[in-house]
Amino acid sequence: MSTQDRIYLSAPHMSGKELEYIQEAFSSNWIAPLGPNVDAFESEIAAYAGVKGAVALSSGTAAIHLALRLLGVERGDRVFCSTLTFVASANPILYEGAEPVFIDSEPDTWNMSPEALGMALADAKREGKLPKAVIVVHLYGQSAKMAEIGSLCDRYGVPIIEDAAESLGSAYKGQASGSIGRFGVYSFNGNKIITTSGGGMLVSNDEAALRQARFLATQARDPAPHYQHSAMGYNYRMSNLLAGVGLGQMQVLNERVHARRAIFERYREAFADVQEFQFMPELGNTRSNRWLTALTIEEQGAGTGVTALLDALAAENIEARPVWKPLHLQPLFKGARYYTDQAEESISERLFRTGVCLPSGSSMTAADQQRVIDCIKHTLQLSAAKIGR
Ligand SMILES: *Cc1c(COP(=O)(O)O)cnc(C)c1O
Repeated sequence: MSTQDRIYLSAPHMSGKELEYIQEAFSSNWIAPLGPNVDAFESEIAAYAGVKGAVALSSGTAAIHLALRLLGVERGDRVFCSTLTFVASANPILYEGAEPVFIDSEPDTWNMSPEALGMALADAKREGKLPKAVIVVHLYGQSAKMAEIGSLCDRYGVPIIEDAAESLGSAYKGQASGSIGRFGVYSFNGNKIITTSGGGMLVSNDEAALRQARFLATQARDPAPHYQHSAMGYNYRMSNLLAGVGLGQMQVLNERVHARRAIFERYREAFADVQEFQFMPELGNTRSNRWLTALTIEEQGAGTGVTALLDALAAENIEARPVWKPLHLQPLFKGARYYTDQAEESISERLFRTGVCLPSGSSMTAADQQRVIDCIKHTLQLSAAKIGR
């Protein structure tokens, strides 16, 4: 095992300003959940995303769950969801006892295939059971093809929830990622582009729905002094202390996007002549925050595959990861319906087999990144020698 310091996939990166907000909360004794930091954090996110409102929550998962509740998802209903994503995108579908239907990726963005979505919607229409919502994920910061997906969903009258947990700071045709669907969801988990250590945000232009989200997130308390409840609620609100961390992080969000994009470019330049490496594309007219640098490896040519590369990096105390395992392949979702982009091939499965995420944290130094690059180059040389090139 290497004795060098560990390089993480995506470590939290504080600006230093977070402590001032926490200090302020301590001085004014706003330790309880809710308070001025929560209000300010919500306004800043809403302004950044260009939407009418935002509700700060305990996690991105809670935000997806509330969005489903607000769209009236109930037991037995269908919800469509991108398959190539983290399990948190789809777990809330199960919370509601609804049926997830998974949609393949397409190669241009690695995100939801409009082709596959179109087929799934047509089938659902024929069966008289359209989904109550479509959850579209913007993987690793890259926006999905929202124009195509949006016009399909409009045609069938199905609302979109944008899972923008990984894409805060990204833009699609000049619009903030997460601001396009009926609801958008951000996450401030420790590994995301900015963090509150744990937290999430629900954004929308539907202010009535956001009022209902606040109500549900605070135990659905009716307006009565004696704690009366007529609906089932949750304890999903963000604490005023953590919102202070979020305010400190918002001040550096654009810097963080810049840093991650620069990291992506350095990797791309370092491996420009390795034909077997294909970096995750950036769709025209979109700007990715490049939360994680992701690429695919053509095993045949490179002589090294995902596993060998991950092992070599792990031996140097460097954390890297395969691309998310598609949800339709997860034991949890066994038997769920799945629509592919092309009849002959499942794109998400190919991306899973060949994809790698490299360390991409904004606090990673140039020297750290060089260590990652050198380790990968060394592995490529060894495998080239082995196959006699
Ligand atoms: C992180 C993440 C979430 C969940 O966010 P939490 O704040 O951890 O609950 C949801 N979807 C995707 C795609 C994510 O990466």
